[in-house]
Amino acid sequence: MQPGTEQNVLRVAIIGSGPSAFYAAAAYFKTTDLRVSIDVFDRLPTPFGLVRGGVAPDHQKIKSVTRVFEKIAAHPNFRFYGNVEFGRDLKYDDMLQFYHQIFFAVGAGADRSLNIPGEELSGSHSATEFVAWYNGHPYYRGRKFDLSCERAVVVGMGNVAIDIARILAKNRDELAGTDIAEYALEQLAESKITEIVLLARRGPAQAAFTNPEIKELGELADAGISVPANEVELDSLSAEMLRSHPDPGVASNLETLKSYVGRSFVGKSKRILIRFLRSPVEILGDTRVKGVRLVKNKLEKSSDDSLRPIPTDGFETLDTGIVFRSVGYRGVELPAIPFDKSRGIMPNIQGRVVDPATNRAVDGLYCTGWIKRGPSGVIGTNKPDAQETVSSALEDLRQEKMNRPSLPDREAVTNLLMERGIRFVTFDDWRKIDKLESERGRACGRPRLKFTSVEEMLNVLAG
Ligand code: NAP
Repeated sequence: MQPGTEQNVLRVAIIGSGPSAFYAAAAYFKTTDLRVSIDVFDRLPTPFGLVRGGVAPDHQKIKSVTRVFEKIAAHPNFRFYGNVEFGRDLKYDDMLQFYHQIFFAVGAGADRSLNIPGEELSGSHSATEFVAWYNGHPYYRGRKFDLSCERAVVVGMGNVAIDIARILAKNRDELAGTDIAEYALEQLAESKITEIVLLARRGPAQAAFTNPEIKELGELADAGISVPANEVELDSLSAEMLRSHPDPGVASNLETLKSYVGRSFVGKSKRILIRFLRSPVEILGDTRVKGVRLVKNKLEKSSDDSLRPIPTDGFETLDTGIVFRSVGYRGVELPAIPFDKSRGIMPNIQGRVVDPATNRAVDGLYCTGWIKRGPSGVIGTNKPDAQETVSSALEDLRQEKMNRPSLPDREAVTNLLMERGIRFVTFDDWRKIDKLESERGRACGRPRLKFTSVEEMLNVLAG
């Protein structure tokens, strides 16, 4: 009998508990006449993925999307198993015993490399580690960032690069009202960095940031911003492209950037410099970063009509003690699950994970979010993305293409975890952590004061 009825409930597992996981659960629950039970697993004791560990701590409004996720989690057929790591505590073979459909919503946990000499030097960091550190991610709390130099260089011109520049540029008072990790607040308050240089390999018309983010960077209490006039001028190819394909987002970015030309830094203790058409070719230093060698680029049309950077023979060197590489995230391969190494995603067709050996979808195996489409879009982008995967899964169910679990009993997974001695964290447990963090925050005028180690969280739950 096809699962999804009162007598034969459809059992779904979702690995990862970020936005795409919750949107997938919501899409199932919205399907009338379907009896479904959903178990969401996360290696951390806390849910919400990048909303907790990636969204900048000074963007609290964006984080309020968790209220939507809390409502989804309140559904009687939703269960959260935090502190359970896929591949270690629960393997794919275990999951096949319990679930008809298994979803991966694990995001993109690694970063792209620049592939230049010196990338491994001490003082050269990926955006992933810095963002996770200041957001109090337990796996990254021990990372060290030497903020004793005067200039920091951020490579990349997307919204993550802007987040990093803003966090480095804000003063203690500006950061104190956020839920930034306490240790990061203390260390950033002592930072000696007074200049933050952002580098784009292409021109202002190709910048990947969105307009509210670049505008916000010009409105900081204690940091001025500037862009060299000649670097905001459009090259002829970009100008022609904008004439033939007007883009309101690009037009507002150009307007904002032009307003930064020649801005004064008077009265500000920090400065942000935006540079275009510059690529790092080497990170300089013996064991520690001492500088970055840059090449000036020009733009050239590629076969797909996009404009790509081509190095010229113009070079310059910037002295710096710290470099942040913010050139995009990458998915991470999981044990026993197909992975496309070149794209850093799970190979899939509309969310159905495809086995590269047979080129066919694996019955009952799905993906959603960044591990499905790559690291692009905002939180809301994950809603239609998850709906598409759930539609594929429901269509497969109608055609009786699914995994056939030997133990579809609702308690089987709980029993296995208990047998293995795994202290899993339920959604009620998370509510306790959440309440305590909020209370600790209120006591010192902050939205929340995060627990940043798994041990601390488990101790709190143990009373
Ligand atoms: P992104 O938007 O893809 O930006 C990556 C940047 O890195 C681009 O400027 C790209 O330039 C550059 N880059 C790539 N390879 C490079 C190389 N080899 N050398 C130099 N530069 C290189 O990625 P992201 O900033 O990590 O953001 C990920 C997603 O999260 C985006 O969709 C973003 O909008 C979203 N996000 C949103 C917010 C927000 O809404 N406030 C905040 C954070 C993140 P090219 O264009 O030349 O490739």
